[in-house]
Amino acid sequence: MTPKQRTRLAAALATAGALSTTLLGPATHAGADSVRPDCPRGLACDWVPAAHEQTGDPADKETYGNYDTSDRPRTNKIRFIVLHDTEEDFDTTLKIFQNPLKQTSAHYVVRSSDGHVTQMVKNKDVAWQAGNWYVNSHSIGIEQEGVAVDGAKWYTAEMYRSTAKLVRHLAAEYGIPLDRQHIIGHDGVPPTTASGTRNMHWDPGPYWDWNRFMALLGRPTVPTASARGELVTISPDFKKNKQAFRDCEKGVDLPVQGSSAVPLHTAPSADAPLFSDPGLHPDGSPGTNCAADWGSKISAGQRAVVADRVPGWAAIWWYGQKAWLRTPAHTRTTTPTAGYVVRPKKGRAEIPVFGVAYPEKSEYPADFADQRVGAPLGYTIKAGQSYPGGGEAPTGYFHAPTIDSSHPYDHTYFRGGERYVTVQIGHRIAFVKASDVDIVRAH
Ligand SMILES: [Zn+2]
Repeated sequence: MTPKQRTRLAAALATAGALSTTLLGPATHAGADSVRPDCPRGLACDWVPAAHEQTGDPADKETYGNYDTSDRPRTNKIRFIVLHDTEEDFDTTLKIFQNPLKQTSAHYVVRSSDGHVTQMVKNKDVAWQAGNWYVNSHSIGIEQEGVAVDGAKWYTAEMYRSTAKLVRHLAAEYGIPLDRQHIIGHDGVPPTTASGTRNMHWDPGPYWDWNRFMALLGRPTVPTASARGELVTISPDFKKNKQAFRDCEKGVDLPVQGSSAVPLHTAPSADAPLFSDPGLHPDGSPGTNCAADWGSKISAGQRAVVADRVPGWAAIWWYGQKAWLRTPAHTRTTTPTAGYVVRPKKGRAEIPVFGVAYPEKSEYPADFADQRVGAPLGYTIKAGQSYPGGGEAPTGYFHAPTIDSSHPYDHTYFRGGERYVTVQIGHRIAFVKASDVDIVRAH
């Protein structure tokens, strides 16, 4: 869970002028109707509403919890599903989401012991869960009861089954692709700015079995291209892929155990430093085996483009550089995969990468104060590199500064004309302008 990332508006908001054609009207507000959870048939599921209340001075409509009303998917398209773990027990999590002072929520919470599902925010509304307002606006968040560093013990067979049933149902309802660029962990959500990288969460962590989960979604990893193909899916056997990670917050080594994560090195040698995500290590220090150091790990189900091979090792393009992973003989680590990759248009030396897909400044009404635009992240895609991706990311900014749409343009979805596509730039997805790239079949 992550508190809402919102920007307070100064009181000096301009008054609303004529609605431009890029605007949809303000979202409708739900009444106190009886709510049935949006769950598939046969799933044990109930509804416990998250708080939607002001918490400060009654005149201050900008201080409230724990979500924003909206009218999805009529306004904001729902394009991603974000899986989390709670870091709290199930009952405490429900209490947190019912307390508007906590400023955090998710659409669903799944219990470890029996896979019971509780919905707390309607899918038409925007839960404060992903730590990236663009992703919040365009996603559904599901919390798994668990503690990431505790290992797989929280992640029960019942939980995998329930979450998978729920994700299949939601993906069918909203047209969300069942792949790891759209079904992502909180650890797959990009930061909105380069400086925000270090604050991003990394749940559900390296002990969530993504191979197993994707198979339950009906998308098991099987070879769909030739063995020398450039596009691969990371596919270690969870139980056999024993990894030694460290809880660097507590300063303790975690027990060696099965994992979805495969370490990435800067050269084809186990002695070479681990890869360092420049957003996470701005001082250039090497990557670490901390469970929280996502940049030094690729996760099962994620795709990558092979840039180089030497016996026992493969290099992939990763945050604009080569990162090396072990590919020992007779051990499944990667699976050749058919699919699309994204590369800079011919003649472009490098292209920018974004953590949001917002409109251009010129596309907002002139009298609208919060003309939110994307800033490039610290990564670029250089000529000669390619990355998995190409799925369209909706371009738009959902403006919702108050609890009750009391400001001009409040609860408006500003749609942009520039098309963006999703890329797997590294451990986290990101967005590039479609006009900057060619999207081609991998070969
Ligand atoms: Zn989370």
